Amino acid sequence: MNGNYDVVVVGNGVLGLSLGLSLARRGLSVVLVGEKARPYSASAAAGAMLGAFGETTATLLASSQGRQKLNLGVQAQQLWPQWLDTLEADTGRTSAELLTAQGTVVLLNAIGVPGIDSANYRAIHQALTMYEQKYEDLDVDNVDWISPDALARPLRAMFLPDEHAVNAAELLATLESAFLAHGGVFADDSVTALDHVGDRVRGVVLASGATLSAGEVVLAAGAASQAVLNSVPEIAAQVPPLISGYGLSLLLSSPERRQPEHVIRTPNRAFACGLHLVPRNAGEVYVGATNIISTSPVSTPVTRDLQFLLDCAAKQLHRDFWTSGVKRIQVGNRPVALDGFPIIGPAVPGLWMLTGTYRDGLHLSPLLAAELSARILGEEGRLDLSLFSPVRAPVQTASRRDIVETAVTHMVATGYEHDWRVPVEWPRTIEHSLRLEFSRFAEMIHPDFTPPPEILAAARYAPDLVAMLKKFYGTGRAASV
Ligand SMILES: Cc1cc2nc3c(=O)[nH]c(=O)nc-3n(C[C@H](O)[C@H](O)[C@H](O)COP(=O)(O)OP(=O)(O)OC[C@H]3O[C@@H](n4cnc5c(N)ncnc54)[C@H](O)[C@@H]3O)c2cc1C
Repeated sequence: MNGNYDVVVVGNGVLGLSLGLSLARRGLSVVLVGEKARPYSASAAAGAMLGAFGETTATLLASSQGRQKLNLGVQAQQLWPQWLDTLEADTGRTSAELLTAQGTVVLLNAIGVPGIDSANYRAIHQALTMYEQKYEDLDVDNVDWISPDALARPLRAMFLPDEHAVNAAELLATLESAFLAHGGVFADDSVTALDHVGDRVRGVVLASGATLSAGEVVLAAGAASQAVLNSVPEIAAQVPPLISGYGLSLLLSSPERRQPEHVIRTPNRAFACGLHLVPRNAGEVYVGATNIISTSPVSTPVTRDLQFLLDCAAKQLHRDFWTSGVKRIQVGNRPVALDGFPIIGPAVPGLWMLTGTYRDGLHLSPLLAAELSARILGEEGRLDLSLFSPVRAPVQTASRRDIVETAVTHMVATGYEHDWRVPVEWPRTIEHSLRLEFSRFAEMIHPDFTPPPEILAAARYAPDLVAMLKKFYGTGRAASV
């Protein structure tokens, strides 16, 4: 395939597809490149919770950058009903067919630590109050469907009536149909390099050897976007490097073949997105998810993650998961910028980026697609995305001391999530040693910049990640704290 298009979109995940569709609806000729099997895709493995408030954490609320991110999530939530209506108009597939859960139950259970689990539960309340959202505190003894182990029983619970979930696989299929209905073209291929003259990008080179030319190229290949960017080191050097937050999720047969009607989730927890369950097809539920930082995308499930997630599901959600059928094991790679914030907007002439969305890119997809398509068409943007500009100084939302403290708390929380049994005075001793160790390690990476807590913790065992951080910070840009 060779050709000339208005726009080439690289990546067939939820962001590439939603953007491609928005552009095609506006009458542009768009080719979307990505292998049908979607290797490494986060979208295909996602729980697809449409969560803004359920995703809120205490650290998110503590900084202006974090509150800006929350605000995007809230705006995206308001767009979903309309987005689903337009998908129905394009494909005939109704929102009832795509939505798998009505509302979300958030559980604060006995697992974890006060500094994360209770603090994030409080942060969810706080955000709901800030935005004057409806929610209901529930009687923990009467939460529908769950049957946890006594040691993992819930302490508090609330119902968020407006946070739903969709079926990720069905959403991707519907977006594909809608894109085709608007004249979009698919290239079942992968991009190996950007085609450029100087720092003007004018197309892409495909693995098949063909070249696609376009006025604008959008890089939305998730965590694998970095490999494409690396084809032009001068451009790659200007953008925060992307790594992967790979995660495991499962499709399990539902105990007694009865599903809950809503999402059931904990707040975000130790270095991850919290334990969550989403009803799927009849008799089947989705359970997620782990989050492990890796410098390159991962495609094979890891024994440790599988054992952990199955254990969490059976102990904390329903004891009958112990005898459930495991219908599918999914691995996805969340696209994570080294400073933890999305990468959205123009990078160099002819090249736009739409990635780095980490934990909630699926939820944000209609909002970001509408915004970026308007900007590509030369219209004034409606959102302030300056914080997420691809060419930026590293974003840092807290002091080194606070980041180290958060990393220590998360690390110790991981022990509690794994049911560790240690002498009662050990956690404080371990915290003390970790505090010294993380501080010393952060100092070794850079005198001023500190990466987000999970990246700091992961870097201790990943020399390639340390090298990436040093290079990123070494460009002489000032930290925007
Ligand atoms: C386990 C898990 C659970 C999650 N749960 C949720 C949730 O409940 N709600 C939520 O909002 N978010 C969730 N997320 C996060 C969300 O999935 C991501 O933020 C979002 O899907 C990112 O979408 P994307 O299109 O950028 O990337 P991806 O879905 O990764 O898509 C990128 C696509 O590009 C393709 N590609 C890669 N390299 C190339 C190349 N060189 N050329 C062409 N194509 C290429 C890939 O094959 C892939 O199909 C979850 C993520 C995981 C892993």
